[in-house]
Amino acid sequence: MPARLEAPLAELTTLRLGGPARRLVTAESSADLIAAVTAADRDGEPVLLLAGGSNLVISDLGFDGVAVRIATRGVEVARSGERVRLTVAAGEPWDELVARCVADGLAGIECLSGIPGSVGATPIQNVGAYGQEIAATVRSVSAWDRTAGKAVSFDRRACGFGYRTSMFKGGDRYVVLAVTLELEPANGGQDYGGLATHGHSGFVLPDDQAARMREDVARMYLLGFYRQAGPPAVLAAQIRDRDSDQVVYEAAWQQTSAVARTLATSTNSALVPGRNYRLWVAFNKPMRIRDDAGNVVAYRGQESGASVGTVTLEFPDLAGQNLALPVAGGDSWLAAPGGAPDGFLRYRDDAFAVDFTLPADLPVTASTAAVISLSIRDLADMTLDGNPATATDWANGHWVRLEDALGAENDVGGIDCSFKPFAAPQDGAAAPAGEAVCAAATPPPSGGGGGGPLDWAVAALAACLLGRRRKRAPDRARKPCRAAPHT
Ligand SMILES: Cc1cc2nc3c(=O)[nH]c(=O)nc-3n(C[C@H](O)[C@H](O)[C@H](O)COP(=O)(O)OP(=O)(O)OC[C@H]3O[C@@H](n4cnc5c(N)ncnc54)[C@H](O)[C@@H]3O)c2cc1C
Repeated sequence: MPARLEAPLAELTTLRLGGPARRLVTAESSADLIAAVTAADRDGEPVLLLAGGSNLVISDLGFDGVAVRIATRGVEVARSGERVRLTVAAGEPWDELVARCVADGLAGIECLSGIPGSVGATPIQNVGAYGQEIAATVRSVSAWDRTAGKAVSFDRRACGFGYRTSMFKGGDRYVVLAVTLELEPANGGQDYGGLATHGHSGFVLPDDQAARMREDVARMYLLGFYRQAGPPAVLAAQIRDRDSDQVVYEAAWQQTSAVARTLATSTNSALVPGRNYRLWVAFNKPMRIRDDAGNVVAYRGQESGASVGTVTLEFPDLAGQNLALPVAGGDSWLAAPGGAPDGFLRYRDDAFAVDFTLPADLPVTASTAAVISLSIRDLADMTLDGNPATATDWANGHWVRLEDALGAENDVGGIDCSFKPFAAPQDGAAAPAGEAVCAAATPPPSGGGGGGPLDWAVAALAACLLGRRRKRAPDRARKPCRAAPHT
C-alpha cells in the first residue's frame, strides 16, 4: 500500500483547499482498505476517508492523522430474470458507472449522471438528482464495521435512507467497501424528460415473482405431461398375513396385447376373522408427489391430497360388514423400492400399503366372497380405469377403453373392483364358487321387482328412449343413458 508522509490533500479535493495529512495511504483493494483502517484504529491514529474528494473541505491546518484514499476498483455483474445486479467497489468513479449502465441499456441511475465522486460515497448522503436517488436502486451495501472489527452488509431498509441522508452519514463507524445496485432494462424505470428510447414495456417482475412464475409454468407442463400419460390403473395387489408372513392373496394384471390385459391370480388362503393383514396395491404410474422434506403433498391446484382415497374390503353376502381400510394419511404411499409388501413397484409412490385386522366378530360361517373396492384418484385428480382388462388409450379427442365400475366406457373412469379375495372361519377353507361384485359395480334396481343384468339393460334402454321422446317437455330433467354392465 503506497504511503506518503506530510501529504498534501488539497489536490485530492474538488475545492483544491486544505493542508496536508500526517500520512496518506492509497487503498487499491478492499483488503488494503480494511488493513489501513484497522491498523490506524489499533494505533489510535485519527482516520480521514476520502474518495473523489468532491464533498470534502479540508482545513488549512491539514489533518493530523492518516488519510485513506479509497481507490478500489471492480464491477461484478449478475443477471436475475430481467434485472441486473451490479456489485461495485467503493472507489469506482460514479459518473463512469452511470455512463456504462446507460450504454448497456440499464435504467435506474441515469438521472444521476454528472454527479462527481465515488460509488462508495453515494449511499452516505443518498445521492440524488432530478427526482431519482440512489436509495431506489441500492440492494445492499457492504462495509467494514470499525467498532465490531468485521465486515457487514446492510440491505436497503437497514441503510436508513432519507432525503440526502442515511444511517452512515454523520458517523465514522462504517467504511463502505462496495455497493450492490439492482437495475432494470431501460424504459422500465423513470422516463426523465420523455427521453426514453428503448422499447421495453416497463413491466419488470421482482426476482421472487419471476421465480414463482417459472415454477408455476414448469409445474403446469409437468401436470400436462402426467395427464397425457393416461388415467391410472391398478397393476397388482397382495394380501399378506402379518403374523405368519404368508401371502394369502396375490394378483397382477399382465399385458397380452396392445389393448388387452389378463389378471393372474393366486388365492392361497382365506382371510380369517381376528387375523392381521397387510394389503399392498400397485398402480401403473406414480400416484402422489412429495415435498422437499419427503412428505406426500397435494399437487398444487389439484384436489387429490395426500390421502390414498377410499379402500374398502367388501363382503356383499354379509350385510353391513364392509370394512373401510385406514388410508386417510399420506403415510400409506411407499417411497422405498422393493415391491410388495413394503416398497413401490416401479416408481416412487406408485403403490400403497395398509395394515388391517379382520374383525374377530365378522359373521363368516362358510367361505365368503370378498372384493376390494378401490376409489382412488391420481395426483392430477384422474380416476381409476374401472376395467384394467382393456388398456386405455387416447383417440379422437377422448380416452377409449376407460370404464367405470359398471364397465361403461365413458371417458371418466371410476372404481376398480378387480381384486377378489375371500374370507372363511379358518385356514384351509376352499374358495367360494361365486365371485363377489362390489357395490359400485352393482347396477341400480330395475324397479320391476327383480331381474338380472339383462332386465336392467332393457330398462336402461327404455328409459333412454323415453327420455328422447320427452325432449319436447323441456321442464323434465334427463338422466344420461348408460350401457349394460359387463358381467
Ligand atoms: C459540482 C458538484 C455537483 C454535485 N451534485 C450533486 C447532486 O446533484 N446530488 C448529490 O446528492 N450530491 C451532489 N454533489 C455532492 C457529491 O457529489 C456527493 O456527495 C458524492 O457522493 C461525494 O463523493 P466523493 O467520493 O467525492 O466523496 P468524498 O468527497 O471523498 O467524501 C465525502 C464524505 O464521504 C466519506 N466517504 C467517502 N467515501 C467513503 C466510503 N467508501 N466509506 C465511508 N465514508 C466515505 C468521506 O469520509 C467524506 O466524509 C455534488 C458535488 C459537486 C462538487
